[in-house]
Amino acid sequence: MEKYYHILTYGCQMNIHESEKIAGMLRTLGYRDTQNISNADIIVFNTCCIRDTAETKIIGNIGEIKRYKKKNNDLIVAVVGCMSQQKGAAENLREKFPFINIILGTDNLHELPQHIIQLEQDNKKYIKSVSLDPSAPISEEVPSYRTSGTNAWVNIMYGCDNFCTYCIVPYVRGRERSRAPMLILDEVKMLLDQGYKEITLLGQNVDSYSYENYDFAYILSQCAKIDGKFRLRFMTSHPKDFNTKIIDIIRSSDNICNNIHLPVQSGSNRILQLMNRKYTREYYLKLIDEIKTLPNVGITSDIMVGFPTETDQDFADTLDLVKAVRYSSAFTFVYSPRKGTTAAKMKQLPAEIKKERIQELVKLQNSITAQVSKEYLGTTQQVLVEDTNPRYENSVCGRTDSGRLVTFSGDKSLIGKFVDVKINKTRVASLFGEINV
Ligand code: SF4
Repeated sequence: MEKYYHILTYGCQMNIHESEKIAGMLRTLGYRDTQNISNADIIVFNTCCIRDTAETKIIGNIGEIKRYKKKNNDLIVAVVGCMSQQKGAAENLREKFPFINIILGTDNLHELPQHIIQLEQDNKKYIKSVSLDPSAPISEEVPSYRTSGTNAWVNIMYGCDNFCTYCIVPYVRGRERSRAPMLILDEVKMLLDQGYKEITLLGQNVDSYSYENYDFAYILSQCAKIDGKFRLRFMTSHPKDFNTKIIDIIRSSDNICNNIHLPVQSGSNRILQLMNRKYTREYYLKLIDEIKTLPNVGITSDIMVGFPTETDQDFADTLDLVKAVRYSSAFTFVYSPRKGTTAAKMKQLPAEIKKERIQELVKLQNSITAQVSKEYLGTTQQVLVEDTNPRYENSVCGRTDSGRLVTFSGDKSLIGKFVDVKINKTRVASLFGEINV
């Protein structure tokens, strides 16, 4: 009899790739994917606790599962990922939702198959396996069932040592651990042989990759040298670790995209210090000047408003920095306190002020994004076609080297191909064009 899984993924690209690993493990046990949750024999919540909003949504979604469990007592419900890794979270979850069968921490994901086999024999059981060992070896040897189209994610490191005062990642993902270079290079080569056209190297802070004497610049240069036409991207970078050596490698390789995501978080030195970001706005802007020497580079960022004690002047400094950099786009968000972090104990700002500031920041960034988009008009961009675009008839979409999404006429036979597209229309962050023939 067919058995089905349904995975709900929350959070960042790291989690999206982790769900590919969960799917890979479930498929080795004979499970197949279903989009219809009521058909599932196992439901996995791959959680994220970075933001309050994600956590609230996950709790709501787990609650909805009760009715499926009532209909099918053999249904296995698993909660994995960084939310279950928080201190006391597993106990709280189980108390609130006694129907949960498996709770696994971030370092225990590879144990999933063995626990499912146990549960298939006795579904009344409850298994909790949450441990965070800073020196734990990286268990990468789990199969991935990749669903990200032309792009494949490759983890190069895990965890974070930076302890930004607002962030819970170091507490739930542990200290930095880097994979051996040979394992990374072998995985990238294998994926290119399988036909993937784009590889994204992943880590909480890729620039601080460190394995014996090897650094991130080495990994980037070696991956870029692999034979064939493909694109190499990476995320996420930290301004204190991103450096000239990396910029020079990007400049010297056609395979590495001129697309840098460099989260600034705030434009105020006072707030950057309170955040423990370990750089100043002057240092950041100097780095941006250097990055802008890369041809047609697209620069993106994460920007937070409403950090505790942020004054009107601090916020004005952020707006000023955004105007100076002219990001092609930015992920803007409101600070929300995370239990256990230093910033959560600081004096918080009223919600109304945060709301006003985020609206002003979004308005500014949207206008800059629209201006940057217009600079593409009349240019020809090489685009890697990723998918059809269901919003427009007979259209496909893909990204420029700089990371901008372009829609143009075409059919799915173009997916996975590099094509030259002349840009003839823009709409805020979207570009439109026609294939050059
Ligand atoms: S660098 Fe800072 S924000 Fe990024 S994961 Fe580490 S602690 Fe969190």
